[in-house]
Amino acid sequence: MPVHPQFFQIPQEPMSPAPKKHHLEFPKPLLRFQIHDLSHPGTHAFLSAFGDSLPTVLHDAVRSVLTLLYTSNKHTLDSAQSQSSQPHSSEPHIPSTRSVTLILQSMEGVAYTTGLDLDDDHKEIHFSTDYIQGIPEARRKRETLGVLVHEMVHCWQHNAFGTAPGGLIEGIADWVRLNADLAPPHWKQEADGDWDAGYQHTGYFLEYLEQRFGKGSIMAVNQELRRKKYDEAAFWQKLFDHDVATLWKQYGKSLAKKTARNSMEEAEQAESCGDYNSGEIVEKKKDHRRNDEDIRRQHPRDFAQEMKDLYMT
Ligand SMILES: [Zn+2]
Repeated sequence: MPVHPQFFQIPQEPMSPAPKKHHLEFPKPLLRFQIHDLSHPGTHAFLSAFGDSLPTVLHDAVRSVLTLLYTSNKHTLDSAQSQSSQPHSSEPHIPSTRSVTLILQSMEGVAYTTGLDLDDDHKEIHFSTDYIQGIPEARRKRETLGVLVHEMVHCWQHNAFGTAPGGLIEGIADWVRLNADLAPPHWKQEADGDWDAGYQHTGYFLEYLEQRFGKGSIMAVNQELRRKKYDEAAFWQKLFDHDVATLWKQYGKSLAKKTARNSMEEAEQAESCGDYNSGEIVEKKKDHRRNDEDIRRQHPRDFAQEMKDLYMT
């Protein structure tokens, strides 16, 4: 017979005050953290940047993503049952992600997100310590946070049952990063190429739609990706009353106007400041271009591989 103790130490005082309730009832996933190699310089750089603030940083990243993608007074957890019973509900449905594990490991590329084979509600964000090591110290914290927010979006966004264009999925992730005020200095708006080239290229296009059609437009894009498989013509027509090719052209025109206006303002400023300053502006522009190239080399994102990891698993 095991001996059962008859007396226990009982805490006399509450250990800590009861937690205050947040006014937004967002789900709170279990957040976990794994380090593959404590001696890697990228691990050291990451821990030096965040230290004790990591739990807050990760919670804030979840909160930024949910606020931008699902801000509303009412929230309902997504589930097979609610999808079948309320296919046309206008309430935002938040995916039922139950845990997110951040894993620091040495690998090529920047980061990717995947769901576990046995249960897709458990996500893993794999973040490259080699990449973290290469970020200049002055930008390390913001760049790392920006990458984390981007990957966190993949833990919470809808994808039209795996049929959404990869560029739209990546564009939404960078749109959230942009609106979380974590855009890196090398990002710029461009309207050449395809609308769904992804990342900030598509992210800025989505921001144009948000500005033009009103707050909540990209939240509506994400919700539409929950309802059914992606049909390009019907999707954009329903949301914005235009096809996406027309919207992309209109974005290009609006961007050209903005660029012309900025150039004119710069020229006027240069004129009023004299030749010396004008030369300085040209020089600054050259430096900016060089910086862009440097940073692009630091972003070896393998788009195809990331898509495969994300949604083919
Ligand atoms: Zn991504």
